[in-house]
Amino acid sequence: MKNTDSIKFEKALISQDLETIRTVPKSDLHNHFVLGGNRQFLKNKTGKLILPIKKTLGSMNEMHHWVSENLGEDYNTPDMRKLLVEATFVQAKEDGIKILEIGEDVWGLNEFFNNDIDELISTFKEANRRISPDTELRLQIGLSRHCSISYLEKVLEPFWGRSEFYSIDIYGDEFSQPIENFKNIYRKAKLNGLRLKAHVGEWGTASDVIQAVELLELDEVQHGISVVEDEYAIKMIKERNIRMNITPTSNVKLGRVGSIKEHPIRKMFDKGIDLTINSDDILIFDSEVSQEYLTLFREKVFSADELDVIRLNGLKNI
Ligand SMILES: [Zn+2]
Repeated sequence: MKNTDSIKFEKALISQDLETIRTVPKSDLHNHFVLGGNRQFLKNKTGKLILPIKKTLGSMNEMHHWVSENLGEDYNTPDMRKLLVEATFVQAKEDGIKILEIGEDVWGLNEFFNNDIDELISTFKEANRRISPDTELRLQIGLSRHCSISYLEKVLEPFWGRSEFYSIDIYGDEFSQPIENFKNIYRKAKLNGLRLKAHVGEWGTASDVIQAVELLELDEVQHGISVVEDEYAIKMIKERNIRMNITPTSNVKLGRVGSIKEHPIRKMFDKGIDLTINSDDILIFDSEVSQEYLTLFREKVFSADELDVIRLNGLKNI
């Protein structure tokens, strides 16, 4: 027997009713909060509208260029950083997100939170309680891949031993340094009970995914879409029970995949991989989680029933 949310969700997909899709509980486990905020909320607060990209981007550099043109220095103050945290919870509430995994880059602790870990944690928790109390916050520690390991080890110090954090993630340019450089940090993160994630296999290959999973003992992979090229990688992902947090529109708009119809998420689902559907960067790619589900349905990648299976999978306790 399907529960009422499942019935409502499938009906809303079939009638392409985005408003109702938004009311059904979903997870967003791959969201960079700086670019995950609600466009209208930010416009109301700042008077400036951040416009999403129109054409497909060709590289991460083009994405960074978009960020500097559209956000520039406007948000590089403690108050404005906190506004972005609020905007992300406004967005999560509107999108029916019941589990939201977000967090600050370790670099931001000194830049925006007076190097005070309690202030950083309470900023996220307070905005969560005030704006979207029905959303479960999974607080993440974020690492930029290009940063030197000695720098990261230094700025990570205040984060260790803080039970408020749920996970750790690496993002940014996949080719900036070998993933093995992060081995010691991830070993320590594991000892701290954190769930281990990394962005890999978005620009890189299936071998890069295999290497990252093995060396860092990952629990989850952000993107990882290149695994479809390699049966061994798929087998390993399944055997190790690795969760893959996929962001279909972002993959298309960054030119990683030709179109939604061709997205490897279908093949990954058919292979039985533990999948979730997520937003990545709403302000750039203009696709909230509800919209992602609707797009995959409209493009006939999945049936409404299959999308409900994926939705429920994202909400399951792991
Ligand atoms: Zn991402």
